[in-house]
Amino acid sequence: MNTEVIVVGAGPTGLMLAAELGLAGIDTVVLDRLAEPTGQSKAGSLQPRSAEVLDLRGLLDHLSEADRSRPGGHFAGLPVALDNTPWQTRHPNPVTLPQVALERLLADRLAELGVPVLRGHELVDLTQDDDGVTAGTRGPDGESRLRGRYLVGCDGAHSSVRKLAGFAFPGKAGTMSAVAADIEFAATSDLVPTGQRFFGDYMRRGGGYWTLLHPLGDGAYRMIFGNAERRDRHAPVTDAEVQAALHTVYGPETTLARIRHASRFSDANRQVERYRSDRVLLAGDAAHIHLPAGGQGVNLGLQDAFNLGWKLAAQLRGWASDGLLDTYHDERHPVGARVLRNAAAQSVFMGIGEGTEVAALREVVTELVTTPDGNRYISGMMSALDLRYDMPDAPAHELLGRRMPDVDLVTDAGPTRFSRLAGHGGGVLLDLGAGIGPAASAQLGGRVGVVPAEPVPGVDASAVLVRPDGHVCWAGDDVADGLDRALARWFGQPAR
Ligand SMILES: Cc1cc2nc3c(=O)[nH]c(=O)nc-3n(C[C@H](O)[C@H](O)[C@H](O)COP(=O)(O)OP(=O)(O)OC[C@H]3O[C@@H](n4cnc5c(N)ncnc54)[C@H](O)[C@@H]3O)c2cc1C
Repeated sequence: MNTEVIVVGAGPTGLMLAAELGLAGIDTVVLDRLAEPTGQSKAGSLQPRSAEVLDLRGLLDHLSEADRSRPGGHFAGLPVALDNTPWQTRHPNPVTLPQVALERLLADRLAELGVPVLRGHELVDLTQDDDGVTAGTRGPDGESRLRGRYLVGCDGAHSSVRKLAGFAFPGKAGTMSAVAADIEFAATSDLVPTGQRFFGDYMRRGGGYWTLLHPLGDGAYRMIFGNAERRDRHAPVTDAEVQAALHTVYGPETTLARIRHASRFSDANRQVERYRSDRVLLAGDAAHIHLPAGGQGVNLGLQDAFNLGWKLAAQLRGWASDGLLDTYHDERHPVGARVLRNAAAQSVFMGIGEGTEVAALREVVTELVTTPDGNRYISGMMSALDLRYDMPDAPAHELLGRRMPDVDLVTDAGPTRFSRLAGHGGGVLLDLGAGIGPAASAQLGGRVGVVPAEPVPGVDASAVLVRPDGHVCWAGDDVADGLDRALARWFGQPAR
């Protein structure tokens, strides 16, 4: 074996997964076929749950480029901002951040953790047996082989891992093609938006086009547009087609100076049937593709990685309970399927299938999203703050399966908040008066830190057990009612 885990792909998903594995002390190697990142940011913002996930590992504070001033997320560009405040979060607004800045942050984290990223190394072959996986790679020095105990494909929408390992990828082929281009203007009309606004305000329609145009903060703009024309995904994006869309929607005085980066995307909607094939797993866009509507892809990939990292580490360290690794598929497949469903629903509103019925449906859904309950439902879905994993063996509790809110705490060491206790990447057992005591941490093999704290207003429990991914796996007043079972399930055999 050269390493314990081979991560293929240094996008946000692969980098986050490698960071989680590195934190758990797992020997990990990341491969990426690009010698250098392209510099293009597909995503321009992070959903609130991604911000929380980064905060759980102390990473959010390092994002100096992050801008939290844009109000609310959106659904299908409908003219109603999504309000995340009912979800008890410190990050109610989407965080405006170019994807490259997130990738840089995570790459720096890997450097700190000593996890190597082999750039310019493309996966071209893959075989697995009972003991491990052999990856055939092509790199600057020709072809070579790398062997690991597990391999995770985080290699994006056109994943080689998915194809080489034979994962079934059912779903729908794309029916449209659209362009995402980072551009600079020579001249602009008053129709070109300026400053931070609600995302829905950046959308326009006209002359058969739909567009989303917003400033990137450094003088350049991101323009996403489409019309009824379907172009080959590989056809280069030309100045002429960008200029045509600009003229049509923003007036003839709006003139393109240059395209910095441009690519095409479609509304293809597919998901692998299983996220695991023995020693090969998939995460992020490699496992699911959908129209990038409402900015959910990075959120989905980061949380795939966050769900998988500690489980794979447990498997490799030998303390995972039976089936722990398979809960990755069980928990994340339905979440991916739900995003695919809402992305398909959004495509109906985004200029595709424009017509009287669509306009009527848009109005009805806009009215629904204007109601407090309707807005809360959609904001929870789009931000992933409403996520609740199934925890069938634990006693019912309102927090069970949900993300632990980042509540203020008063511990023996003084005031803090929940996210500050989770940076080590292990579990946290909050002792809010149950009398478990910190000595239990050592008995739990160091996998769970027991933290006594004063009772928390709004948290109706004397103890809460939180997994490394921030999801509550036990909460209640009676520690004799299933706490040991939860510790065994998620953290191996407890010695409590
Ligand atoms: C126009 C557009 C706008 C978007 N906007 C948003 C947004 O605002 N918010 C949001 O959350 N999401 C958005 N998304 C989606 C988001 O960008 C993706 O979901 C995200 O990049 C997925 O991350 P990933 O790490 O899974 O895959 P990728 O980012 O695709 O990374 C995969 C990596 O694998 C590497 N790779 C591929 N094949 C191989 C191989 N054979 N060997 C080695 N390496 C390989 C690639 O070089 C790449 O670095 C947008 C997407 C598009 C197209």
